[in-house]
Amino acid sequence: MLSYRHSFHAGNFADVLKHIVQVEILDYLGQKDKVFDYIDTHSGAGLFNLKSEHATKLGEYLNGIAKLNESDFPELREYFRAIKVHNDNKQLQFYPGSPLIAQHFLRNEDKAWLYELHPTDFELLSENVRQTRRVRVKQGDGFEGLLSVVPPISRRGFVLIDPPYEIKSDYDKVFKVVAKAHKKFPTGTYAIWYPVVDRHRIEKLEKSFQNSAIKDIVRFELGLSADTTERGMTSSGMIVINPPWTLKAKMEKLLPKLVQAIDENRSAFYKCDTWVPE
Ligand code: SAM
Repeated sequence: MLSYRHSFHAGNFADVLKHIVQVEILDYLGQKDKVFDYIDTHSGAGLFNLKSEHATKLGEYLNGIAKLNESDFPELREYFRAIKVHNDNKQLQFYPGSPLIAQHFLRNEDKAWLYELHPTDFELLSENVRQTRRVRVKQGDGFEGLLSVVPPISRRGFVLIDPPYEIKSDYDKVFKVVAKAHKKFPTGTYAIWYPVVDRHRIEKLEKSFQNSAIKDIVRFELGLSADTTERGMTSSGMIVINPPWTLKAKMEKLLPKLVQAIDENRSAFYKCDTWVPE
């Protein structure tokens, strides 16, 4: 069952939070003169046309990236820069997905492992990403891929895990795979995206992490509206293991501003907390 296509959702409020956190981590890793590996377990197509039929069908980006005024967010200069390189003029038409955002930050010696299972998105990804000896695109299961490449030779790494959670067992799987990967590569930075469709699933995930041996876990969440039992995603978050030491303080200041920017019905909210201390 592979029905999820990110092209319907690109640039929405969930992508904004996910990619801001991604940029902060990549930017931090790139500041040290030491190579690192980037592993994207669920890469998607890499680049999205916001004027396409898919993107305009739901228009989700209108309540996401389109709501952010660059001049209000000088602290997001690197994030906007990573978007602007895909747009010739001032108009926003193309929104980069996580692999192209990563590629913007990777230096010549850094490596990337990009996994995508969907045949169409894999083909698009292969066209959109500049493949080199160090940047590899693979059609396959990203969970298995992750376990096969950690620990990376560089011993510095950033793993982005962004499943569609179409299959409900993905919530358990995410925890189990991260626990295994962390055992093999405890010093890596792991960022796991989650949707709030049913809050209990996230609370269960939180407990699993808290009952594990993994330390240094923070969580950032940005929500459009309060939890509900009705269908659909109301909020989404990022769980970060071994975050850059600067990340939580930055997000603490940024999240209230993001809430203000996307708050249509005065119901938006954020969460910024430590799940497990260092
Ligand atoms: N990370 C992307 C971004 O930020 O632009 C978006 C990824 S999208 C939320 C999830 C992607 O995972 C979809 O393109 C889907 O086809 C793919 N997918 C689903 N199951 C997968 C698996 N087991 N391994 C790799 N990719 C998978």
